[in-house]
Amino acid sequence: MDDIKSVWSSMKAGEKKRAVMCAEDVDMPATIITGLRPGKTILLTAGIHGCEYCSIQAAIELADELRPEEVSGTLLIIHIANPSGFKERLPEVVAEDGKNLNRVFPGKADGSKAERIAWHITALQKRADFYIDMHGGDLHESMHPFVFIPGVAEESVTQAARDAAQTLSVDMRVRSRATTGAYNSAAILGVPSMLIERGGNGQISRTEVDAYKRDVRSVLAHLAVLPADRLIPPAQRPQQRELDSAVYLEADTEGCWHPCVAPGQPVSQGQPLGEVRTSFGEPCRQYAAERDGRVLYMTVSLAVEKGTPLVAYG
Ligand SMILES: [Zn+2]
Repeated sequence: MDDIKSVWSSMKAGEKKRAVMCAEDVDMPATIITGLRPGKTILLTAGIHGCEYCSIQAAIELADELRPEEVSGTLLIIHIANPSGFKERLPEVVAEDGKNLNRVFPGKADGSKAERIAWHITALQKRADFYIDMHGGDLHESMHPFVFIPGVAEESVTQAARDAAQTLSVDMRVRSRATTGAYNSAAILGVPSMLIERGGNGQISRTEVDAYKRDVRSVLAHLAVLPADRLIPPAQRPQQRELDSAVYLEADTEGCWHPCVAPGQPVSQGQPLGEVRTSFGEPCRQYAAERDGRVLYMTVSLAVEKGTPLVAYG
């Protein structure tokens, strides 16, 4: 299959083609849809984390289902941005270099595998009017669906992302303060972006995949790339709250993790979140909420390593 850039440059209006995004020795499956009518160029990526299956499956199905006749503008969909992590079922990282692809943007032309993939995705971000990065809970994570918008970009870029995020059927929106992450990197370059989080636990859920596709279609309708009837009607969206910050609790010891909260659950300051026990079952560290909030995502695996996330709440 040919590279996404050569396929894209050869396409006329009203076409859909499969391609690969080549980053030297890695081929990422991709679909390009050039709409019958002119409009914005939108980049979607899934599988930056290779075990976030609902997002990957939603991207595969959207690439299959969306038709050029209903599109105004151009859609570039990267189905799996981290194929080695996907193939080897590796949480978080790219197999060849052990790096978290989402932490190495904008990447390097002559860097390690993850850095080169990031470099090629950044080149596409620069040609896009909007960037949607599709994630979810990793193999060992459970989550309440929510969306991140970039918070360190120009205010107009953040506002464009916020306007789009409000068309999703998720009740929490987190304004990120980070400069890492593919979507933050795009926003710093001036491209409005979002990171959607839905699904988790290494599972495919039909309900979550369908909700994911409905959400992405709604954003695309908001951006006038799909017909207005794909917009989720305001009456069907939950009230969405913006969190200006979140607490990312990390384990300060390794051991067996026993959480006592669930994704989406409200927590109040001082409330127990869980405890780490030794492999003999003895309690060794208890964790409690530093402040009021709601659980966004959490580790659900028994094994935890020192310095890894336990619960994120805001
Ligand atoms: Zn992810």
